[in-house]
Amino acid sequence: MAKRDYYEVLGVGKTASDDEIKKAYRQIAIKYHPDRNPDDKNAEEKFKEAAEAYSVLSDPQKRQQYDQFGFDGPGMGGFGGFGGGFSMDDIFSMFGDVFGGRGGFGGFGGFGGRQRAQHRGSDLRLKVRLSLQEVATGVTKKFKLKKDVACPHCHGSGAANGSGSETCPMCHGQGYTVRTVRSILGMMQTQGECPTCHGEGTVIKNKCSECRGTGIVKGEEVVEISIPAGVSEGMVVNVPGKGNAGQHNGINGNIQVFIEEERNDTFIRDGQNLLYNLLLDFPTAALGGEVEIPTLGDKKKKVKIEAGTQPGKTLRLEDEGLPAVQGYGRGKGDIIVNISVYVPQTLNRQEKETLEQLRQSENFQGDAMTKRSIFDKFKNYFS
Ligand SMILES: [Zn+2]
Ligand SMILES: [Zn+2]
Repeated sequence: MAKRDYYEVLGVGKTASDDEIKKAYRQIAIKYHPDRNPDDKNAEEKFKEAAEAYSVLSDPQKRQQYDQFGFDGPGMGGFGGFGGGFSMDDIFSMFGDVFGGRGGFGGFGGFGGRQRAQHRGSDLRLKVRLSLQEVATGVTKKFKLKKDVACPHCHGSGAANGSGSETCPMCHGQGYTVRTVRSILGMMQTQGECPTCHGEGTVIKNKCSECRGTGIVKGEEVVEISIPAGVSEGMVVNVPGKGNAGQHNGINGNIQVFIEEERNDTFIRDGQNLLYNLLLDFPTAALGGEVEIPTLGDKKKKVKIEAGTQPGKTLRLEDEGLPAVQGYGRGKGDIIVNISVYVPQTLNRQEKETLEQLRQSENFQGDAMTKRSIFDKFKNYFS
């Protein structure tokens, strides 16, 4: 088919204003709109032809090139996409302003290749409570779930005794129906989901008695869910395709697993780090020594305590913390040991006597000694 002159297509003169071009295009677009002319190839061609003409003539630069060089202009080559491989959706997205939006056209996958709707099962939600050890390694858990499953009697089809389904008499298998509505463009025809078949395009005449034609029944299933290492409270792990079955062998929903953390008596979690409060005995703090710090594994870690260790000091056990969840964040966290010093709450007579003696010793003076040493420093400074 020879290409028609763009001005001719829109029925306007070479000197037409932008407004005239827009108005002309609107009239043609409404007249040949695919929703007004279902399955009319000729109308569809006219609609596309007008869209192409409008796309050039509404653009001042393209219009000038077209006026000068016609279809062979330098910018026209790029228009090869039109005519053959371009879709109605492209037109709607390009010229949405002319139509005032696509309104009820969404959801059916464009014109020409309309897709029938498939039922999707709903999602299931689960809560999982994990110990820190499980968070550290990741874990696979089994759940017995009550959920919608495909009806075993009709194998999910919803039809009794293999009777199958028939083309929907309401929409003739299209899955949508066209209805006339009033819009800013006047009376327009829009399409919507067929009320009889809910978009499937087929109906079941002889329904399975077990599932009443839905193809799904309440059932139980054991589902294994693997939770990756490093997750934390409030995270949601999505398990695709393990949720409720969709009607008529549709698409399965997902399982959303909400993560909760068990309280841990040993550690406080701080992101990937674990905080451990070490209550150090006074002699070890003063004399130095070695203590054992628990880890998430089976083994404790031996840690050296230096002589004169003060309360409030922190030690770090590198890479003994939690892994990053699926590579987000650094490799592994640490155990951070916060040291406090234990002061005995009961003492026998001998201990009391020993401490009374030590109280007199200069090295045990605490606050008073610190103040004196500062005073000494000042004295030296000014002398
Ligand atoms: Zn239908
Ligand atoms: Zn059934």
